[in-house]
Amino acid sequence: MVSARYADVGLPVPLGRSFSYRVPSGLAGAEPGARVLCSFGPRKVLGIVLGLKERPPEGLDPERIKDLEAVLDPEPVLPRELLRFLVELSAYYLAPVGEVLRLAVPAVERDRVEALRRQGRLDVAAALGPTVGGRAVTFAVATDAVEPPGSLRGQAQAVLGLLRAQGETQVTALQKRYGNARAALKKLESMGLVTLSKRRLERVSIFDETAPPEDPAPTLNAAQREAVDSIEAALAGMHRHRAFLLFGVTGSGKTEVYMHSIAAALAEGRGAIVMVPEIALTPQLVGRFRARFGDAVAVLHSALAPADRYAMWRKLRSGTLRVAVGARSALFAPVADLGLIVVDEEHDGSFKQEEGVRYHARDMALLRGHRAGAVVVLGSATPSVESVVLARRDKLGELRLPDRATAASLPAVEIVDLRRHRRGPSGHRMLTMPLHRALEATLAAGEQAIIFLNRRGFAPAVVCNGCGQVVSCRDCSVALTYHRRAGGRLRCHYCDFQMPLAAACPECGRPELELEGLGTEKLESAIAEVFPRARVARLDRDVAGGAKSEKVLDRVRAREVDILVGTQMVTKGHDLPGVTLVGVVNADAALSMPDFRAAERGFQLLVQVAGRAGRHDRPGRVVIQTRDPEHPAVRYAARHDVLGFLVYELRDREEVGYPPFRRLSLLRVDAVEEARARRAAAELATLARGCPEVVRGEVDVLGPAPAPIARLRNRYRFRVLLRGAARGPLRRVCRVVLAGKGDVDKAVRVALDVDPVSML
Ligand code: ADP
Ligand code: ZN
Repeated sequence: MVSARYADVGLPVPLGRSFSYRVPSGLAGAEPGARVLCSFGPRKVLGIVLGLKERPPEGLDPERIKDLEAVLDPEPVLPRELLRFLVELSAYYLAPVGEVLRLAVPAVERDRVEALRRQGRLDVAAALGPTVGGRAVTFAVATDAVEPPGSLRGQAQAVLGLLRAQGETQVTALQKRYGNARAALKKLESMGLVTLSKRRLERVSIFDETAPPEDPAPTLNAAQREAVDSIEAALAGMHRHRAFLLFGVTGSGKTEVYMHSIAAALAEGRGAIVMVPEIALTPQLVGRFRARFGDAVAVLHSALAPADRYAMWRKLRSGTLRVAVGARSALFAPVADLGLIVVDEEHDGSFKQEEGVRYHARDMALLRGHRAGAVVVLGSATPSVESVVLARRDKLGELRLPDRATAASLPAVEIVDLRRHRRGPSGHRMLTMPLHRALEATLAAGEQAIIFLNRRGFAPAVVCNGCGQVVSCRDCSVALTYHRRAGGRLRCHYCDFQMPLAAACPECGRPELELEGLGTEKLESAIAEVFPRARVARLDRDVAGGAKSEKVLDRVRAREVDILVGTQMVTKGHDLPGVTLVGVVNADAALSMPDFRAAERGFQLLVQVAGRAGRHDRPGRVVIQTRDPEHPAVRYAARHDVLGFLVYELRDREEVGYPPFRRLSLLRVDAVEEARARRAAAELATLARGCPEVVRGEVDVLGPAPAPIARLRNRYRFRVLLRGAARGPLRRVCRVVLAGKGDVDKAVRVALDVDPVSML
């Protein structure tokens, strides 16, 4: 007797569990990692087999277990290693497994979904992942048959002649030349002179289609050599550590270490994943990888068409492409025989996904690497306190690059106290005399400057002098920013709300509105005004995303720009040889966020932006303006003293009981009606407080409290913070709260953020 088998299936539904189905005998390919068609209530949906069992799950009546309907793929779409990792990730974040699978499963080919639908087997395209079509294109090709003499005339004859001359041709191209191409082709096909075939065009486009120039590897310096040696030893299983923190000052040649490590992994026949903060902003880095590894590299970019993404996915899965470079989602690349994971700028906040499954790609890189037997390298000039603590506990091996790779030394930093220094000749309060002089000197020397301000737009706020109110968003408790370029409009930087700047205050009606504060748009024009001969450009999200930002940076590199004004976008690891001056207009804006990580983030920002100055042969100089020169982030940044800052910051975190010394989980509750959100948050907090772990004092419950942005996109937001020293008790409380989520008001949304990064 053949015993039935049972499949544990992850479905694309927001329920925190998997589902059981029977595998009918004769259904081949229902292996872990395969996509399967299942009935789910009245619908047919696509799921992924997580595991197989010989016996029906306990407590389920075997008669009521439904059969799997079909298997989509001849081979499991997810490799075992990746599948197991995803299941673990879902458990770690207490996130529905179906939603986690969605992060990693490639688009389903539309053909296959279509076929199932035509057979009446799939009612809804509730697929795991979107569907891709690619573009189906019809090609025509001449056969070897010879036409009977005199049988062809006109366009049919011409089309056949062309096909014979140039080989296989797209039908649309023929139609452009011959109006009757379709009719002609039909006739030719019926005579056996031409065959038509439909094919999917796979366009694997990487950033630019041209092959990059080859980049010979420089000889490593001693520190780089030592780092690469350790990583190679780990790859060979000969090192005490399998995961490393590569702590190297800006410009110390970390990228070179990554590339040598990748080469070592490839030499062993293994693949690699490289994660970078924002791939759209790092084409220079991507270019360096492509130059070194050529066609082995898949660049996973959000601008990729689904068909291209799918094509790349398949090539990684099959091992044709061996290196995946991308932003946080590259964590899920199905790289065959994964040997190495690199996380560049590991401190960067963009590795945390802030919607849906709220995972941290850096933390999960350590998990995936560990499970896959791969070596993990976390690199940064300003490592996160989390990684530093892991290194201190010897969970990460520490690799240091203490000096810049080129002859350049780190730039001198000058702090300008905004309370004391008066405005320079421009008359603008934020362009102080010292900054003005520094810009003058840089221009006179024919060098370039970057001026950093982390506020885009013209003026960050509009205030009414009549009633004192700030004009805020219709849907958010956020001040509207005035943008001059966009036709003089007020815009919300959190939702898409926009409105014209009225003459009178929307609150009191008095015509006394005044623009307040300084944004990059205004700074750019102010600088252009006082330095009329300088070529000034701006880089922020209003000017540029993706490819456009690279154009701006190309112009800087080509020396077509003297002064570049910009937001965080200018701090992201660019190597701009002509830049010798970096000015930070207002350090305080970055340091005053309502968040326990504000000092750490502000410090990282200051060091990273300062690191853009004087990277090559000419010495660099940095001017930091602040009202709080004694702030530790400012003091340590001015001395490039990263370790000093970390020691200070770690002591502070330990004292106040924040990560990495305690663990946090943040319960985010929101609703359109304030009272309902508040009530639900209070109910959940009460539920948590009833847990034995809380009663015993292993877990603290803080709140509910309104979120720092109390209203966003027309929803009122509340927070309950759960905090504990050990993960186990904290998770148990989280589970109780999640289970209670089902009982709260249906108009309220509840999300759990495990290891939250942004508290907003
Ligand atoms: P990081 O990633 O640490 O900021 P990069 O890898 O971008 O630093 O290196 C900074 C500069 O130093 C680059 O222009 C790079 O080509 C150069 N560089 C790196 N390693 C070496 C080396 N061993 N010898 C000479 N130049 C190097
Ligand atoms: Zn808004």
